[in-house]
Parts: sequence; C-alpha cells; structure tokens
Amino acid sequence: MTFSLHGLPVARGVAIGRAVLMASSRVDVAHYFIEPERVAGEIDRLRAGRNAVIDELHRLQLSVAQMGPNDAPHELSAMLDVHLMLLQDEALTSGVKHWITERLYNAEWALTTQLEIIARQFDEMEDEYLRERKADLEQVVERILRYMKGVASPVAPPTAPRRKTQQDLLLDDTVDVPLVLIAHDLSPADMLQFKQSVFAGFVTDVGGKTSHTAIVARSMDIPAVVGARTASQLVRQDDWVIIDGDAGVVIVDPSAIILAEYGFKQRQGELERERLARLRHTPAVTLDGERIELLANIEMPDDAPGAFKGGAAGVGLFRSEFLFMGRQGHLPDEEEQYQAYRRAVLGMEGLPVTIRTVDVGADKPLDRSTKDEAHLNPALGLRAIRWSLADPAMFRTQLRAILRAAVHGPVHLLIPMLAHGSEIRQTLSLIDFARAELDNRGAAHGSVQLGAMIEVPAAALTVRLFLKYFDFLSIGTNDLIQYTLAIDRADESVAHLYDPLHPAVLRLLADTIAECRAQGKGVSVCGEMAGDVQYTRLLLGLGLRSFSMHPAQILAIKQEVLRADAGKLAAWAQQVLAADDPAALLTKG
Ligand code: PEP
Ligand code: MG
Repeated sequence: MTFSLHGLPVARGVAIGRAVLMASSRVDVAHYFIEPERVAGEIDRLRAGRNAVIDELHRLQLSVAQMGPNDAPHELSAMLDVHLMLLQDEALTSGVKHWITERLYNAEWALTTQLEIIARQFDEMEDEYLRERKADLEQVVERILRYMKGVASPVAPPTAPRRKTQQDLLLDDTVDVPLVLIAHDLSPADMLQFKQSVFAGFVTDVGGKTSHTAIVARSMDIPAVVGARTASQLVRQDDWVIIDGDAGVVIVDPSAIILAEYGFKQRQGELERERLARLRHTPAVTLDGERIELLANIEMPDDAPGAFKGGAAGVGLFRSEFLFMGRQGHLPDEEEQYQAYRRAVLGMEGLPVTIRTVDVGADKPLDRSTKDEAHLNPALGLRAIRWSLADPAMFRTQLRAILRAAVHGPVHLLIPMLAHGSEIRQTLSLIDFARAELDNRGAAHGSVQLGAMIEVPAAALTVRLFLKYFDFLSIGTNDLIQYTLAIDRADESVAHLYDPLHPAVLRLLADTIAECRAQGKGVSVCGEMAGDVQYTRLLLGLGLRSFSMHPAQILAIKQEVLRADAGKLAAWAQQVLAADDPAALLTKG
C-alpha cells in the first residue's frame, strides 16, 4: 500500500530505490559493501563470532551448574538456554547469510539488519513472554558484535555510485537496483563512511536542515530528507521508496503512476544539471560588473579535485574535523594531517584553500559511540576552538601540519567559534609557538592568511575586535542562526523556528559584512545560506562578494549571480533589513 512521509528537504533531486534499513545498535557497527570474492570469508568471520559466543555461553552454563542453588538463580540458567537457542536459530543465520551473499553487506551490517527484521516480528507477537525475547536477541547479537570487533575486519573498498534510469528500474528488479538508506539517525562519521557508497538517497528520522548529517548528505549531492520522524519504523527492508529531496517527501511502495511521475521529475532534474553545467567556465560576474567569488566547502582532501572541476575559485571551508572522526580516539598525527592538507592544497592547483581547525563536539562527535550524553548542552560546551584550546599539544600538532602544507600553495587558516578576546590571543600565541617549533626543527613552512569564523552573536557584535587580529572573517550562518535564535540546528522539533531571515540574524550578518568592507578586509559566508539560491540576491544586496558552499551548488548560485544587479539589490536589501517580516519581501527583490 502506498503511503507518504514528510520531513525536511536537505539535498535536492529525486531518488528511487529499494530501502536499506540501518539498524541502530549500542555497539559501533561498520557499514560497507564487500567485494563478491569476500563473501565466504565474511560468512566465516561471522561464524567464528557466533561460535565464540556459543562457547562462552556453554562455559557460563557449566559454572552455573557448579554453583549451589542458592548462588545461581534458576532464571540465569534459563536465560542462558534462551540465548543459546536464539544463537542457533535458523532465521538469524540464514537471514544474515542472505544479506552478505545477495547484498554484499559486511558481516556486522548483515547481522544488525537481520536483527532489526526479527525484532519487528517479536514486536508483533501477541504473547508477552515471546515479545520480551527481543531483548535477549539484542543481547546475543551485541555479544557477537563485540566479539567481532576484536577480530580484524577488512577495509571497505569504496564502491562507485551508480545512478539508474527509470527504464532500468522497470526492466531490472533484481539485486542490482539503486538502494536508498533509511535510518533513525546517522552520525557525521556514518555519513562519511557512506560518502563513496552506492546509496542513491537518504532518509533519517531525526535531524535539522543544517545538522552535520544533512550537510554531508548535501555534499554527496544525492536526494535526502531528514526529520522524517517514524520513517525507520514504517519503512520495511527492501520496500520501494521515492525520496523527493526538493519537497522533503518520502513515498513508500509507490504505484506505477506515481513511479512514472517521479521518473519524469528525475529526468527533468538531470536535464537542469546538464543545462547548468554549461556555466562551468563562465566568470561569476553580476550584470553591473561585480566579480563574485564562489568557493567550495569540503570535508575530505579528496573532495578538492571535484571542487576544482566544479568551477570553485578555491576552498572556502575545509572542515578538518572529518579527518579526526571514526578513529576510536586515535587522532591523526602531524605527518598524517600534513599529508591530508597537502593533498587538498595540491588538488586545488594553486587556488587558495581555507583550512578550518578542528570543530568537533555537539552534533559532530569524534565517534558514533562517543556521543556526548554526559553534558546537558553540548552545543554550548567544549566544542570547536574551546576543545582545541583545552588540549594545546593536540592543537599545535594541527597548526604545524597546516603551516607545513602552506609550502605547497596558498593556505588560509580559519578558527571556528571564537567569542572572547582571550581566546583570540591564546590562539594567536599557539600559532606563533607552532611556527617556532617548526623553525627549531628546521621544517619548512609557509605563510598563511588568518581568519576567524563569526558563529556566535558575541563575535558578530564585536567584529571590530576581531578585525584587529584577523586578515579575514567567515560567517558561519549555521551556528550563528542556532545561537542567535536559541534553536538547536539538529533538532527537527524546532526546525520551523530555525529562520535565516529573522531580523536579528540579518542585522548581525549585515553589520559584519559592512564592517569588513569598511576596513577593506575579506568576508565570506560559509554556512548553508551561501549555497541556497533563495538567499543569493539578499546576500549580494548586503554587500557579500564571497560565498562558500558545497561544490554541487556552485553553478546554481552562479546562475543567480549572472542575473543579479548588485547595485539595485543594495537598496532593496536595506528595505528587507528594516522589515518586520523580511520573508514577505524576499520574492520582490
Ligand atoms: C557554520 O556554522 O555555518 C559552519 C559553516 O560551520 P559548521 O556547519 O561546520 O558548524
Ligand atoms: Mg559552525
């Protein structure tokens, strides 16, 4: 039966494919596709994990039997029996083998997928005793996963994304159809793992439009919907799903007519992309001759060549924290970071690369399993520059790596989330210290332009102080909006209040841009606002001449720039700034 779900649109376009449900697990589970020749090895790995847990439970049973009846409650031995029975259950083993053999999931992913399927069957049982066995099943699966974590797991070979046409879909309903991922939540580290994967689209239950999960989805340039609330409960493994990333709609089990309609929309989108591609070499200049700098936001060094090919004039934001994620606490050392930054610099072939120092914390935990539950309010806690300043040795390691990479091309060093003069001074003295360390070692390093992100209202209100120390500013509207309006950017329940056009946000933006221009200092916007066509004219009118965004958005923004008259927009932007309801004026510019 066809039904639809509504969420927040985060990455445009239409995806049609079969659902892959990603189960949430308390254990950190890797998800990747294996090569077909690895199927037998993967099944062996799983078997070894299962057998080890069976042995462990048998040993426990023996020791329970040796205890007196007063020391070992009867329930304990009954529980062990149930766990052993579940471990040997055919539905679990054959199901897991199916996901490995047919879908080429790695063993852990196959195991959690099958767990999800059986758990749903338990949920539907009438008998309360049987329903409660779900918890036992979760425990045995967790035991296997923990055991397997100690066993070396082959590294995932990245699989190239494959887009299929509607025609392919109708003809070929076998294994090789597009897959769309449905999950309760995906951490940025999860998303990174999927970056090179086969998925044609994403849906998550939770998340806001500018949550980091949404940002990575957008950087992958595939349709995505977040905040779809119950999607992961209502969609079943293998269901046909349409993701409309423009409208934020997910259609499950679509009829042939709906499929045809969305197939048409998908083709229209492809034609629009082809049309925009013709602007690749056109300079970004407004009708009245203002040159506009269109820069790229990247997450990994290997994104740089794509950004260069996509027509970016440089990298305006390299979110270096993605190098630090998913490493179980083993942070990259100076050499590894240097190589990564160097790759990004070389990938841009002489164009500037803005490397932002590590910005972890809040909705960007280092690892999935280290989600900050200890603090009531992680977005206001030890994140970004605060985290770096709390560990000066780690911070200097990163600074040295960035300074060394500057030998290979123009590098701008960007500091996230500064608010206090004392933080600025501490940061600058650590940069000097890092330089001196390199000099003492005789290591080559280059000069960098220094920039600060304006992400908290306190910074926006003291721009003059910032400009005493920095060569340029970059406005992080994602956080600036979050902190100005006290709206958690990752919380879908308040997403309707997350408003880039709130007069307070516009005032902070306008004043920051104006002050930088008055002092002849560079200023750009690198939050999601910069890559959203509905705000381009307003930002141009406010005097912005440098925009940094996901490479996939550059050509659409360029099209807006080519149609704009910056002079005329300036007068109109002042009216928008003074309006009680700026959104009402937006379409009239
Ligand atoms: C921002 O806050 O706008 C920004 C660009 O940084 P991030 O999204 O990584 O927090
Ligand atoms: Mg930010």
